[in-house]
Amino acid sequence: MKAKKLLIGAHTSAAGGAYNALLEGQRIGATTIQFFTSNQKRWIGKSLTEEDIKKWQEALSATGIEQVMSHDSYLINLGAPDVDNLEKSRKAFREEIIRCQQLGVTYLNFHPGAALKDSELACLDRICNSLLEYQDLMENSQLRLLLEATAGQGSSVGNRFEQLAYVIEQVKHKIPIGVCIDTCHIFVAGYDIRTPEAWNATLNDFERIIGLDHLYAFHINDSLKGLGSRVDRHQPLGKGQIGLDSFKFLMNDARTQHIPKYLETPGGPELWQEEIQLLRGFVND
Ligand SMILES: [Zn+2]
Ligand SMILES: [Zn+2]
Repeated sequence: MKAKKLLIGAHTSAAGGAYNALLEGQRIGATTIQFFTSNQKRWIGKSLTEEDIKKWQEALSATGIEQVMSHDSYLINLGAPDVDNLEKSRKAFREEIIRCQQLGVTYLNFHPGAALKDSELACLDRICNSLLEYQDLMENSQLRLLLEATAGQGSSVGNRFEQLAYVIEQVKHKIPIGVCIDTCHIFVAGYDIRTPEAWNATLNDFERIIGLDHLYAFHINDSLKGLGSRVDRHQPLGKGQIGLDSFKFLMNDARTQHIPKYLETPGGPELWQEEIQLLRGFVND
C-alpha cells in the first residue's frame, strides 16, 4: 500500500509571477507551498491576467505541488475599529479571495486582526462580520479561510484558542473556515510544545476548545523568544527555544503527521531545502 504523501514546503517567492512560487517549491523539494498572491505591503493588489493563470496551471501540473496556501496582505485588519481602515481591509480581502479562487488555491491563511484602541470582543465581532460579508463569494468554493494562530503582539487577537473558537463558532455554518497553527506563535503565546507531553497537552486543549477537525495547516518555525513572551521572531529549526523534538513529534503523531506544513524560517530556499529533508527524516518507519 502506498503511504499518503507528506505535504511539507515553505513560503516561496512569487516574484515575476505566481507560478514562480511553485517552481521554487519544486527546486527545494517541497510538496506544498505558501505564497503571496500580491504584494503583501500594498493596498492595491494586481489582478491576475489569463496568462498568469495559464502559467500557474501549467506549473501546478508540472510540479505536482498540492494544497497550496496563500498568506494575506499584512495591511489587512478585518477587525479594525476605524471605518476607513475596515472598509479598505474588507475590499482588499475580497480581492484576495478572488485571486485565490482564480488560481484554485486550497487555503487562504490570514491574521485574524488587531483591536487597536478598542476591546478584544468588539474586534472579534468585527472579524466575524467581515467574514460573513464573503458568504456569497465563498458559496460552493473549494477555498477554505484559515485563521492564523498569532503570537499576541500588541493588540492583535488570535493568540488564545478561545478567541479562534469564538470566530469559528459564528461563521462555520456559513463559510469554510479553519485554523493554521504557527509553532512559533503558539509557543510565545504561552502554549508549550517542546516535548511530546507538552504537545499532547496543547493538542488536548485545542481539541477541547476548538476541535481538531478545524485544524488544517501548520506554519513550522522555531522561536527566538521564550514561552509566553508574546514576541514573534522566527528561527531556523533547532536554533531556537522550541527545539527539534517538537518537530519530530509533529512529523509522527497521527493527529498532525498528514496536515500540510509550511516553513517560514529565516534563511531562504537553501535552508528550506535542508529543513524539508530534516522533517522528512524525522518520520519513523
Ligand atoms: Zn502570518
Ligand atoms: Zn510569525
